[in-house]
Amino acid sequence: LSVWSAVPAGPPDPILGVTEAFRADTNPLKINLGVGAYRDGSGKPYILPSVAAAEAAFVGQADKEYLPITGLASFTSAAAKLAYGADSAPLKQGALAVTQSISGTGALRIGGAFLARFYPSSKTIYLPTPSWGNHTPIFRDSGLDVKQYRYFDKRTVGLDWAGMLDDIRAAPKGSIILLHACAHNPTGVDPTRAQWAELSHVLKEGNLFPFFDMAYQGFASGDIDADAFAPRHFVQQGHQIALCQSFAKNMGLYGERVGLFSLTTSSPEEKARVDSQLKILIRPLYSNPPVHGARIASAILNDPGLYKQWEGEVKGMADRIISMRTALYNLLTNTHHTPGDWSHIKSQIGMFSFTGLTQPQTEALAAKRSVYMTKDGRISMAGLNEGNIEYFAESVDGAVK
Ligand code: PMP
Repeated sequence: LSVWSAVPAGPPDPILGVTEAFRADTNPLKINLGVGAYRDGSGKPYILPSVAAAEAAFVGQADKEYLPITGLASFTSAAAKLAYGADSAPLKQGALAVTQSISGTGALRIGGAFLARFYPSSKTIYLPTPSWGNHTPIFRDSGLDVKQYRYFDKRTVGLDWAGMLDDIRAAPKGSIILLHACAHNPTGVDPTRAQWAELSHVLKEGNLFPFFDMAYQGFASGDIDADAFAPRHFVQQGHQIALCQSFAKNMGLYGERVGLFSLTTSSPEEKARVDSQLKILIRPLYSNPPVHGARIASAILNDPGLYKQWEGEVKGMADRIISMRTALYNLLTNTHHTPGDWSHIKSQIGMFSFTGLTQPQTEALAAKRSVYMTKDGRISMAGLNEGNIEYFAESVDGAVK
């Protein structure tokens, strides 16, 4: 008898499973809109020219020594500035505790573990319904209890603002509230600035702790600063926040695992204590983070020329996605007269669109048309391009009619 004979088979990952099915499909017209990775206008992964230039400058010359536990300082300070803004009070006061992380996922995991260990009020984190599928296991595995607040209204394919407010108001004092800073995954539906301002009040009233996940800075609007509005506003309003950043999407550094976790504290002395505990937490997890991607990001963020180039490339990616939204809307509404209101495709923000397609429709699209998306009807807009959008629209039209 094997030691592992009692290990039960687990279900495949709901998102990465879509890619497996896509790979196995031999139809030359197949389309993969499952995974949230940017594709260029010809459907290929995109190496940002700023990234290629930054990398070329040090490749073969930089040593492969260990980084400190909390990562590459030139990267972490520049990345924090990118998120909080150069004139952010906690940054200027030296009161921001920061560590490099294994991309956004690792930032969330460190944050969850730090709060499980040190957050004094509550061990419950509230997630929007729906949220990125990995949030629940990340926070559970890091030792928090996970609950939900209403977020998406299936009827309007928009924000359930009243439900969201009710549920957050009803959360016990001191609870942790997870907020997608911009480009909510999977719905593509974000609060407006006025709604963020109200949320800031509501969280204050309830003494609730804002925990921001910012995996798409720049991807929502094409503007790095505009997309950081929510966490910056909360900080300005006097909240202490946790913030997770990822450079997977906005620098195309998916597999390099470049991210940041930060906490605003009240003083440099408090920051030093928090830093010491972040190190104690990280050291037995993975000792220290990978160096290569952090060097690339650091070079871009610290060199004014490369930075400007990168800003343009981020805007290019966001704009291409936005143009696909308009094109898809027009094809469904004006060309095919597909039943239903498809305006949400244009109003939704960021990498994804929550199409409103049902699970049976998504299954039929995969089986009959080799069009792959997650079962909840989420599509990665970046997977569409001029070469496949007509086939996609025709397929959706067929599935709906
Ligand atoms: N948060 C959200 C909302 C995401 O969509 C993602 C990427 N799918 C992440 C975090 C983390 O991704 P990564 O670990 O690749 O940075």
